[in-house]
Amino acid sequence: MRGKIYASTVVRITLIYREQLNFVKSLNLTEGEKKTLACPACGKRNKFTVDKFDGVLVWNCYSASCSVKGSFRGSRDMDALKNYIGGSPTQRHRRMNRMPEVTTSVRNHAPALTYLKTVNSLEAYEQGYIKIRYAPSDNRVLFYTPDELGAVGRALDKRTPKWWTYGDTSGGIHVGIGNHCVLVEDAPSACSVSRIEGYTGVALLGTNVTQPIRKTLNKYTSCGIVLDKDASSKAVLLTRQNKCINYVRFTANDLKLLSEESVRDLIQCTKDSSIRYIRSENPVFRWGFVIYSYPTG
Ligand SMILES: [Zn+2]
Repeated sequence: MRGKIYASTVVRITLIYREQLNFVKSLNLTEGEKKTLACPACGKRNKFTVDKFDGVLVWNCYSASCSVKGSFRGSRDMDALKNYIGGSPTQRHRRMNRMPEVTTSVRNHAPALTYLKTVNSLEAYEQGYIKIRYAPSDNRVLFYTPDELGAVGRALDKRTPKWWTYGDTSGGIHVGIGNHCVLVEDAPSACSVSRIEGYTGVALLGTNVTQPIRKTLNKYTSCGIVLDKDASSKAVLLTRQNKCINYVRFTANDLKLLSEESVRDLIQCTKDSSIRYIRSENPVFRWGFVIYSYPTG
């Protein structure tokens, strides 16, 4: 049986910490900068991230089979030092959780499909506007960021928290191909918005327009925000901080539960009797914004 191959040799490239650090240092990141590139160990494209905050380098490979990650505290450069002395060192927003190792198509799990239907997100998935998968180990439906480096997972059972964040979702979740963007709080609402022709839903994954999200908004020709009807003071703050927000809409309904028609009515303020104008002393008006309300019933 000469010539038969009895075992294949698996060559697994791993880099020791020192090699990783040398690689990361060679990228010469400036304070607050973040880079995504091919992993120096596993070679997978766009899976390796490195960033620098308050003089600390943090790197991570998001490939499930790769163990490359680490951090290094270097000296603060001038920018970091200025921020530090000024009492506001630059910081990361949160620790990142690993992406789940095993996911499957939502088509393999009926409750996942049912959930997507109830929150008006199935169309966005079928149109290919967003990657959505099911994670059996967590029993969660995962909505991915466009770069697929992060996801938010909605539990299909009673477990808490209802939503879990995986990887890096700091840039929000953009859903759709429209030139007009609508900022919303969660991923299913963004999917719901993407049904409207010409619109892209952007899930803030909270109620703040973070710096990384702000950076992604200039590619849209207009930008609106839909908030809960109780959030008018929040809206004023957000529009002050974000000059790119052209209009604000309030809704008493959950955006992800509204029909396509109702979402369009809300965003475009079409002549629907259920839409009520609010004239108020709200400072938002100073910039020429008009606030509409979409009451229940
Ligand atoms: Zn890797």
